[in-house]
Amino acid sequence: MVSKAGKPSSQEILKKNVLNADLCTGCGACVNLCPYQVIYHDRTVQLHRCDLDDGKCRAFCPRWEIDLDLLRSSLCDSADLTPEIGAVKDYYLSRATDPKLREIAQHGGTVTALMELALTEGVIDSAIVSAGNHQQEQRGFKAIDKVSLQKNAGSKFTVSPIVAAFNQIAAENSGNVGVVATPCQALALAKMRLKPLQDDAGHIDKLKIVIGLFCGWTLAQEKFQALLLLNNINPATITGMDIPVGKKALVIKTGSGEKIISFDHVESCIREACRYCLDSTAEFADISVGSARFGNEWEEMRGWNQMIVRTARGSKLVDLALHRGILEVRKAPDGILKELKEAAAEKKRTALENIVKKSGSVKNLLYLNNSDPLVKKFMVKIKR
Ligand SMILES: Cc1cc2nc3c(=O)[nH]c(=O)nc-3n(C[C@H](O)[C@H](O)[C@H](O)COP(=O)(O)OP(=O)(O)OC[C@H]3O[C@@H](n4cnc5c(N)ncnc54)[C@H](O)[C@@H]3O)c2cc1C
Ligand code: SF4
Ligand code: SF4
Repeated sequence: MVSKAGKPSSQEILKKNVLNADLCTGCGACVNLCPYQVIYHDRTVQLHRCDLDDGKCRAFCPRWEIDLDLLRSSLCDSADLTPEIGAVKDYYLSRATDPKLREIAQHGGTVTALMELALTEGVIDSAIVSAGNHQQEQRGFKAIDKVSLQKNAGSKFTVSPIVAAFNQIAAENSGNVGVVATPCQALALAKMRLKPLQDDAGHIDKLKIVIGLFCGWTLAQEKFQALLLLNNINPATITGMDIPVGKKALVIKTGSGEKIISFDHVESCIREACRYCLDSTAEFADISVGSARFGNEWEEMRGWNQMIVRTARGSKLVDLALHRGILEVRKAPDGILKELKEAAAEKKRTALENIVKKSGSVKNLLYLNNSDPLVKKFMVKIKR
């Protein structure tokens, strides 16, 4: 559909270049801004046609016209910037000091402990986390206390439209907000921070902390359900999932024990959009958290996190957590940060290769700008 000015409408641009191009990450940044964009299961769909050429739907989409260089130079301290993993003020191995929290958390419980602290200290009035149903369908959930935060701890590997929940909660006027976000969601929120909408009414100013998760991929819900069925796993019985470092398998915990599914089978369930994603460490979050890598023992590692502190906001919260004894940190063994950077660089190169394969030309990098210095750096060996 063309707009009144004779140009393609924003909705049409989003449909052609993101939704129909399999680039939609399901972040939810277009939802609850525009009434016509909605989430159906784990897909973003357009309900009605719209002819606005400056519609809100594509304003913050992380797969539409990204200027990484501008985002980095505007939102990060240039002295902290690294090409592979973005801004690094501090880097730790960390875990929650509360052993009960560690038991229910995915790894060391760093994310939940930090959000609990932000709530109890009044930094935020609510935290947006991910809540799932019995079919592994996720939604952003507004947690206002320790109990609801802990109830939703743990990783779910299907997508959660977290930014849709932020758009809704920020418009409700219910105070300051913290968000737990995957890298693509943190990127959408960074676009909002950089250039809010004129009629935003200060929504983005309510965003006080973004805790990012390291992320390799998410799984498409329908394909994942089919895989579970094939392995005789009822989705409603799943109590947790993990990807042990170095084990090339997805471990599914259920009420009646663990099932291990080889990556060879899991790979076909990965959301197509994740193949074109450059960010594995949530570079635009205030603090980023992932699983720990050290030594050879997964049993020891699984109880710890890697934590990157990226912004002054992030530093303030982590310093407070250390001061209050909420978090425990240890020095990362030599070479661990280097390993993280190498893995992050590899994700960037692979994503760029996939982008070029998709577009058919090194001159067309879909949502990225090919004159961006960061993009150029990782494009060096990619030819077409
Ligand atoms: C889809 C996905 C892929 C990941 N891939 C990697 C990886 O490749 N390498 C790595 O090191 N780490 C990865 N992680 C991060 C890792 O699984 C842990 O989340 C992280 O180590 C924090 O552990 P924790 O014990 O501090 O988390 P917890 O204290 O248990 O808190 C986890 C928080 O994440 C929220 N959450 C759960 N699922 C989602 C979701 N789908 N979307 C948004 N928020 C969610 C929960 O609601 C909770 O608030 C991934 C996480 C997800 C969700
Ligand atoms: S804003 Fe997010 S959910 Fe909407 S089209 Fe873009 S990637 Fe998909
Ligand atoms: S791999 Fe990238 S696109 Fe996929 S969920 Fe993670 S951050 Fe989003």
